[in-house]
Amino acid sequence: MSTNTLTKTRFAPSPTGHLHLGNLRTALFNALLARRDQGVFLLRIEDTDAARSREDFAQALQEDLQWLGLAWQEGPQVGGPQAPYAQAARGAIYQQYYQQLEDAGLAYPCFCSEEALKLSRKAQLSAGRAPRYAGTCARLSATEIEARLAQGIKPSLRFRVSDEESIAFDDLVRGALYFNGADIGDFIIRRSDGSPAFFFSNALDDALMGVSHVLRGEDHLTNTPRQLLILRALDLPMPRYGHISLIMDAHGAPLSKRLGALSARALRAQGFLPLAILNHLARLGHTLDSDALLSFAELAQAFSESRLGRAPARHDETQLQHWQRLAVNALDETALQQWLEHSEVLQEIPAAQQQAFLATIRDNIELPADARVWAQRLLVDPLDHEPAAREAVVQAGAAFFHSAIKLLDTQPNWDFREFSKTLGQQTGLKGRALFMPLRAALSGVDHGPEMARVWQFLGPERARIRFIQATDL
Ligand code: GLU
Repeated sequence: MSTNTLTKTRFAPSPTGHLHLGNLRTALFNALLARRDQGVFLLRIEDTDAARSREDFAQALQEDLQWLGLAWQEGPQVGGPQAPYAQAARGAIYQQYYQQLEDAGLAYPCFCSEEALKLSRKAQLSAGRAPRYAGTCARLSATEIEARLAQGIKPSLRFRVSDEESIAFDDLVRGALYFNGADIGDFIIRRSDGSPAFFFSNALDDALMGVSHVLRGEDHLTNTPRQLLILRALDLPMPRYGHISLIMDAHGAPLSKRLGALSARALRAQGFLPLAILNHLARLGHTLDSDALLSFAELAQAFSESRLGRAPARHDETQLQHWQRLAVNALDETALQQWLEHSEVLQEIPAAQQQAFLATIRDNIELPADARVWAQRLLVDPLDHEPAAREAVVQAGAAFFHSAIKLLDTQPNWDFREFSKTLGQQTGLKGRALFMPLRAALSGVDHGPEMARVWQFLGPERARIRFIQATDL
């Protein structure tokens, strides 16, 4: 890291869908790098594809980033020296640079039709060659160009790549990489409908906006030499690129098929907490020494380009759940309450009991849906026993629960320790044989919060009702 140049990173999503774990990780890595270096994290909306870009997606992705705590210091809403930050509004800027390239003879109008290009690609492929532009329009005279324009053909603009060109760059993740101009061929930088090609607007904006580091998915790796050629031709500064490995599912298959379920929106609706998602993503394809739940600032301190791995990263849902548990654990009482209020679980619980309810279950829930299940278990009779619990109750037998009822009736305010100890003495049971039937009969499951808490929350009347139910299973 150079100390006297500003680190500026960016996230440049195309608003053609909702952000998913893959995009979010890219955004996170860039945000962490900027934060670590006390630099700037920039957001740019790449909405040049008018047919697929949608304003509601652009809005939604900003909300998602804000929800996750990935604040940008330059971009939509906050502004900055290179506004506008949505590419659809930057056409006039691109036009200037197209002109510059054309004037220098570095770009030329191409009149080839889609069909002609397709045929040419096919022919090259069947001849066993990698397809590249055949150069049909590369040497048209001014008169030939005029004639085609007069016919009303709308040209695209192609960037010239000499066969002798070579492009070398030092990828932040993959190290030294080398590409040959001959393998690239002349490529389109403005489509025939006038819209900029990705290579062009993306590279140009990075340069104009002073982006110093680009971390992005390795699916963009083959774009990078083209982008560097454009910047070189325009004599513009080049960012450093780092191509991060893609995310696979736990079985090694591409995650892309399940991305809908893994959108920020879907995770949020289920009740996943921002900090859980950030901690999960910060360890996907990036190693951290700490196994603790870290804050954004701590993640930034620990972030390093050198810790980005080249091997595909594996998304394992159980890991996300692990971070979620830690994040739920770290919520203070108010935040816990807010988290559950949002999901309307608490509405089902009498106000006077809410605090005790939360204290009882908080270590045993990952998602609000779990809280809902516990609300059912602790507040609704008759109890619906899960199979393992039913089994434990049946095995203990009615006589055991008759003893429990009798004991309970001797005094209403037993604390659980005293109660279970005395019941153990009376029945000759101890350990699991004593506690499991109690747990099963009182909560309907064979696992869960500390029994003392459950006992206290239920109170003697409800405990009695449940013991009676247990005598009859
Ligand atoms: N708009 C591009 C995308 O969403 C940006 C790629 C990049 O980060 O350079 O894939």
